[in-house]
Amino acid sequence: MQLTSFGAARTTTGSQHLLEVNGQHLLLDCGLFEGKREAAYNRNRHFAFNPKDIDAVILSHAHIDHSGNLPNLCQQGYDGNIYSTSATRDLAAILLQDSAKVQASDVAFVNKKRAKQGQAPFKPLYDAVAAEKAIRHFVTLDYGRKFPVCDGVTATFLDAGHILGSAQVQLDVQEAHRKYRLVFSGDIGRGKNDILRDPVIAEHVDYLMMESTYGGKKHEDITTAKEELCAVVKRTLEKRGKLIIPSFAVGRVQHIVYILHMLREANCFPQIPIFVDSPMAVNATEVFRLHPECFNDSVYEFLQTKRNPFGWEDITYIREVYDSMKLNDRTEPCIIISASGMCEAGRILHHLRNSLPDEKNTILFVGHCAESTLGHRILSGEKEVRVFGESVTVKAEIVQINAFSGHADEPELLAYARPTAKNHAKIFLVHGEPERCEAMQVALQKNHIGKEVVIPEQGKPIKI
Ligand SMILES: [Zn+2]
Repeated sequence: MQLTSFGAARTTTGSQHLLEVNGQHLLLDCGLFEGKREAAYNRNRHFAFNPKDIDAVILSHAHIDHSGNLPNLCQQGYDGNIYSTSATRDLAAILLQDSAKVQASDVAFVNKKRAKQGQAPFKPLYDAVAAEKAIRHFVTLDYGRKFPVCDGVTATFLDAGHILGSAQVQLDVQEAHRKYRLVFSGDIGRGKNDILRDPVIAEHVDYLMMESTYGGKKHEDITTAKEELCAVVKRTLEKRGKLIIPSFAVGRVQHIVYILHMLREANCFPQIPIFVDSPMAVNATEVFRLHPECFNDSVYEFLQTKRNPFGWEDITYIREVYDSMKLNDRTEPCIIISASGMCEAGRILHHLRNSLPDEKNTILFVGHCAESTLGHRILSGEKEVRVFGESVTVKAEIVQINAFSGHADEPELLAYARPTAKNHAKIFLVHGEPERCEAMQVALQKNHIGKEVVIPEQGKPIKI
């Protein structure tokens, strides 16, 4: 077998790993490379291989950096199956549609620049129709079901505990007279998640391709984070303000909603109206409700014996723009959860314009904000920011809670790798910035985990 990583090699973006085995080509993930617009566009547009030569695609989970280039792969001639869990397929259907919109607006921005330089315009990477066509290639399988992928290769999805439907891909390979097992971790969750199960530990692993996003890093404790969240809600009520939570619509919104539900059930804070104001988050919550097979025991039991984990009398889901705008007129305390998490687009912008200038209000960030985003500027303590091209004064309280990460930190990655790789599997570290992969490599070696720890280079084949 030959492994070549064309993305998520010494970086966290554009997950794409090609396996050549028994004369066939198997692609693990087909993520979108995210970076500077024009460079990203060129990189995503041109595959390092011919899409027509690929025999099968296996998708670990729905996040765009793992799934986002599938429509382009299909429109450039890939005609085979895309294997995933059914929850991943359903979330990918929502995320790829949204991605098509983002492609259109990104390309409009690039084309303005190109027009000034007298260059021909770019077409969007793909449109909504191409995104929908890609979904028709999906073949879905539950966790633990073994399925043939191509000659000499069978695959099994194991729960990765990262987002709904996320999977590790376990490949059993028969090559000439050799038999071995390779596990691709995909993204690995922290474990003890409020909604999801812990990552499953694969057995008899010979090769482990593992993510290393947070090598060398340790996250905050989740119990402390819930206490912090509770304190923020109480402060909002005391100040009679609004609590605005910018959040990624798929996964993070549902996690925060469920935690708020549990805290309210436990009477941690008094009654307060909660609004989830994002059509994509509303759709994603429906997908969550349709996939109880992905829940951990406590949410599953809650769903079976009580009611909807994501719905109770205090919460309102908002689809219509009119209802969203009406929230601006509210004077009573409330919680508004809206997208996008980094405040780059979406309805969160009008909530920020409305709420930032008043010290009664609180803006709570529950995820990472990349540099040069509005979220990052607010978090950096800027007192004047631009929203919709207008200058807005920041007087609201700004809070950040980092513990809700979907990724395992270094101690959690070690706890996953120790029983998976033991001391004999060869480990390939992917999906991490160079500094993070290197820290993870040192930590694994120090703990005598794995026979050898390798950091693949982009586009450089490795013999297995
Ligand atoms: Zn992910």
